[in-house]
Amino acid sequence: MSIEGLNNRIISCKLCPRLVKYREAVAQNPPKRYRGQTYWAKPLPGFGDVGARVLVLGLAPAAHGGNRTGRMFTGDSSGDTLAKALHRAGFANMDRSVSRDDGLVLKDVYITAVVRCAPPDNKPAKQEVENCLPYLTEELKMLENVVVVVALGRFAFETFFRLMRRMNAYDGRIPRFRHGAVYRLNGSFNGKPLPTVIASYHPSRQNTSTGRLTQRMIDSVFHKARAIAGL
Ligand code: SF4
Repeated sequence: MSIEGLNNRIISCKLCPRLVKYREAVAQNPPKRYRGQTYWAKPLPGFGDVGARVLVLGLAPAAHGGNRTGRMFTGDSSGDTLAKALHRAGFANMDRSVSRDDGLVLKDVYITAVVRCAPPDNKPAKQEVENCLPYLTEELKMLENVVVVVALGRFAFETFFRLMRRMNAYDGRIPRFRHGAVYRLNGSFNGKPLPTVIASYHPSRQNTSTGRLTQRMIDSVFHKARAIAGL
């Protein structure tokens, strides 16, 4: 199975009735600023360089961000904050993420999420996470060069450790989530040492507008990722 094959399966997935209904309902009733636009309203595949050494793991698409534009972290302020950080650290050719055809090219970074459909209030149900995790597992196996995982937000961070435990790749405790913390893990996954995990606050507007996460703070995470990945 190629990454394209996996992505095609993801895009046509309808396993979670609540999320299928929500992603389509949001598209039918957009806010004024997006009225007249055609929403993607389907699950989102990962995006970026399949030879990447750095994997960015988010929670789920935003209702009017990825669910509208059809690309992870695209079309909202989270996407712009992330794109700026990736650009400043040399992982992206531009510092904005606007639409699928905006010309953004990622080098040595692949962006994905725990859940592929936008959930109401950004909160997927436990069963929805379970339904979607096999896609991340397959993706992780295919992205053979990944040596660093940047987890955006506590949910992505803890889910990554839970997944590694479930795969018998890691038998330690889930470490404390702390912005900028770096965790070098003992264990192996897919015949290789486990990737180093860097925790970052999620670049949501809620975090950036309150100053909990500044551009400088997230820039530093990606500079760290670059150094640890040996780039
Ligand atoms: S969240 Fe994942 S498992 Fe559920 S419908 Fe979307 S793609 Fe399928």
